[in-house]
Parts: sequence; structure tokens; C-alpha cells
Amino acid sequence: MSEATRIIAIANQKGGVGKTTTAINLAAALSEQGHAVLLVDLDPQGNASTGLGIEPGARSLTTFDLLLERTPLEDVALKTSVAKLFVCPANADLSSADMELLANEKRSVLLRDALRSSSADLYDYILIDCPPSLSLLTINALVAADSVLVPLQAEFFALEGLSQLMLTVREVRQTANPTLRIEGVVLTMYDKRNNLSQLVENDARQTLGELVFATIIPRNVRVSEAPSFAVPVLEYDTSSKGSEAYRALANEILGRHRQQMRKSA
Ligand code: ADP
Ligand code: MG
Repeated sequence: MSEATRIIAIANQKGGVGKTTTAINLAAALSEQGHAVLLVDLDPQGNASTGLGIEPGARSLTTFDLLLERTPLEDVALKTSVAKLFVCPANADLSSADMELLANEKRSVLLRDALRSSSADLYDYILIDCPPSLSLLTINALVAADSVLVPLQAEFFALEGLSQLMLTVREVRQTANPTLRIEGVVLTMYDKRNNLSQLVENDARQTLGELVFATIIPRNVRVSEAPSFAVPVLEYDTSSKGSEAYRALANEILGRHRQQMRKSA
């Protein structure tokens, strides 16, 4: 795989915190900037696939086949309505993957190996939308990834689940993926009229410092409407607050990556 391809796992074992929404819209914002992006749907619920307009009937080959049937990436990846944005779709088949993975010697490195194929270097960014658990599927994502991006919903107890995720990241670093970085933590569904949102933000910035992105994703009804029109909010309502926020997040990530490149050059 090309050195330039960056793989970002979008993970948080809590459900409903904005993983899929962030995966879809960050992917769209990166492609809007001219990058070729692949979104790997790693959740049996298949929400990222649906949100990008892949009908259930069009999912004859899925991430399950990529992981467990050695189906090549180029056979599984599908075009979306967004230029330069592709998706490896998922469906309920993936819910049996955990059992099958358990029986497989290479259980935690299958996604990494699948993404080391030559067609992965067609993409500048590969985003992985993780399921809401720290299951073997999420472990596969963390092993395959260069970094992990954590959406944090601005609500009570938001930080509690984070330590468990960080422990898992540390374990993965000690074993299969020593160079796994934390891309950052992004506050989602932020409501600035709500004191709790601000409290969670202060708490997160105090505890996690620089890891918390300056960009905050506001609660925005256009963001939640977009999936029912099977497009990212950037296409559904391009100048909405939600679209602007995801563009800002993409810019922040691209800026950090340019800095890292300069440092390592
Ligand atoms: P996860 O993938 O972590 O389970 P989702 O991305 O599916 O979370 O988001 C959970 C719900 O919250 C969805 O109904 C989604 O449309 C909604 N949602 C996510 N982000 C926002 C936002 N910024 N504003 C409004 N609704 C949002
Ligand atoms: Mg999801």
C-alpha cells in the first residue's frame, strides 16, 4: 500500500455518539477537497452504507467478504453519488463475523491484511466506521489504522467510556500496531444553549488537552435529515452549520497531516 494512504478508524464503543455521521461527512468533506476516499462500513447495521445511498440489494459483496472470504477490495468497493468517495458496504452478514473471527488464527489482522492490497493505494484516505462495541471488529479497525478518531457526544458520562477505549488502544499498540496514534477527539451534537455541552467541553479539554479538536460539530437538524435522502449533509444542505463544521474538521485534520509530513521530511 502507498505510504500516502492514511487509514483512520472512527471509534467509540458507545452507540449514538455520531460515529457514522462523522464517517460519512468527514469522508465527504475530504473528497470535496479533492482527495480520493474510501469509507469502510464495519458495522452490521450498515448505516454508513445506507447514508451513502447504497441500497440493500446492491450489497452483494460486503466488508464481510473482504474480511473473511478474501474478496479483493476492488470487487467490494462501490461508487457513491459523491465524486471521489467510495464505500465498502456492510449488512447484517457482518454480525456473524465476530464468531467467525474467533475461530480464525488471524482474527485481529484480517482487515489490515485486506487493506494492504494494491488497490488500497488508490485512496488518499480510508475511514473505518466502527460498530458500537470493543469487539473483534473494532480491534480489526484499530490494528489496520494509522490513527483513531473518537467522536464524543457532548452529554453527561461522555468521558467515562473513553478510558476503556484508550486502554484498548494501548493494548493494540503493545501488540499488533505499535504506531497507532490518536487522531483526536471531536465533540459532536453540541448545543451551545445547553450548559451541559459546555461543561463536557471544558472537562474534555482539561483532561485531554490538544487531543480535542478545536472544531466542534453542533447539533443540527440538517445533519440528521441527510441520511434519509441518502447523501452526506454536505450535499443535502451544503451551507448548513453541520456542513460547515465537517469541512472545518476536515481542514483541521488535513492541516495536522501537513504538519506531520513537514516534521518527518
Ligand atoms: P453512531 O454511529 O455513533 O451510533 P450516529 O452517527 O448514527 O451515531 O448518530 C446517532 C444519531 O444522532 C443519528 O440519528 C444521527 O442522525 C444523529 N446525529 C448525529 N450527529 C448529529 C448532529 N450533529 N446533529 C443532529 N443529529 C445528529
Ligand atoms: Mg454507527
